[in-house]
Amino acid sequence: MSLNLLNYDADQLAQLVVEMGEKPFRAKQLLKWVHQRGTADFDLMSDIAKAFRQKLAAQASVAPPSLMAEQVASDGVHKWLLDVGTGNGVETVFIPEDDRGTLCVSSQVGCALDCTFCSTARQGFNRNLSTAEIIGQLWWANQRLSLNAARLGQAVNDDSRIVSNVVMMGMGEPLANYDNVVSALRLMLDDNAYGLSRRRVTLSTSGMVPQLDRLRDDCPVALAVSLHAPNDTIRDQIVPLNKKYPLKELLDACNRYLEKAPRDFVTFEYVMLAGVNDQPEHARQLADLARSTSCKFNLIPFNPFPNSGYDRSGREAIQRFRDILTQAGYIVTVRKTRGDDIDAACGQLAGQVMDKTRRQAKFAEKFEEVRPILFQHKQG
Ligand code: SAH
Repeated sequence: MSLNLLNYDADQLAQLVVEMGEKPFRAKQLLKWVHQRGTADFDLMSDIAKAFRQKLAAQASVAPPSLMAEQVASDGVHKWLLDVGTGNGVETVFIPEDDRGTLCVSSQVGCALDCTFCSTARQGFNRNLSTAEIIGQLWWANQRLSLNAARLGQAVNDDSRIVSNVVMMGMGEPLANYDNVVSALRLMLDDNAYGLSRRRVTLSTSGMVPQLDRLRDDCPVALAVSLHAPNDTIRDQIVPLNKKYPLKELLDACNRYLEKAPRDFVTFEYVMLAGVNDQPEHARQLADLARSTSCKFNLIPFNPFPNSGYDRSGREAIQRFRDILTQAGYIVTVRKTRGDDIDAACGQLAGQVMDKTRRQAKFAEKFEEVRPILFQHKQG
């Protein structure tokens, strides 16, 4: 079988090149061709000796996942559906803003974590993405965005039109696919590949504590944590992973991570679910909970999807919640919903998942059990 060069980070590629009888520095040239120039054709790699090019052509390929669909929302958000084989597809979203362009990257086909408010969870889980399939999302985004820019005669060095930031916030739990995600992160950061700074690459996790400790040593990037609840009782219900790694352990891990992180704060994501976690008492509890961790809050108004069973908190509830945290001394942002006319917002990425875990069926049963506990604060 042909080796897919997109599966190799710099060290791994250097090792491969040596195994093929070449000098390790050839790996740098290859990385530049493959990732910076987006070349899949070895014949075009003019600074590489012909004999090595022929060897590469015989044994290797540059094989990103194939592009199945591209959608562009009215606000400029792009969503790509990539074919990852056997009927599965994953989604990648590009979000242009005034001063940057952020790519939201998926790490798994579906997700195995069962967060009750997330549509990816409802899709069930199929498998981890390979490094090639993860970095292939960035590879594709760069190809498509530069093509679009060229068509429109726009400059491609404008940060709002190219990928200047990556967030591992698409489908899946990145830390549950640790090795492949770390290789992909290393490529994002490598000067011969995408050359993004550690501060511009953010990994979001629902809180896998042991892997968070490993990431701190292996490849620290900016960190976002899906907190979503001010206490273990609520978090156990909506982020079931909390039963394994409860809040205290998670916050301790965040503090350890910060010792090596490129930014001196963690972003706590907090989905605003009407009547579930959005009351003033929850905001006050949250302010106490986070007291000993350097952090910012990002409130995410719940993005609805069919049969979710939840409602988005009202504008007033969100404002009141934000004000309580702000008065307690925290920096708080409210995430703008982008791309919702093409279902590209947080928690709406569904892709195409051939569920292997019966999650889709099990979910419906379980939700009926937890509904009375969840909605105890809801009026009317
Ligand atoms: N598994 C990782 C990466 C997903 S990031 C994690 O849990 O952090 C996507 C973010 O959107 C997470 O904070 C997730 O909890 C949040 N989210 C999921 N479903 C949502 C929804 N329906 N509305 C708003 N945010 C949602």
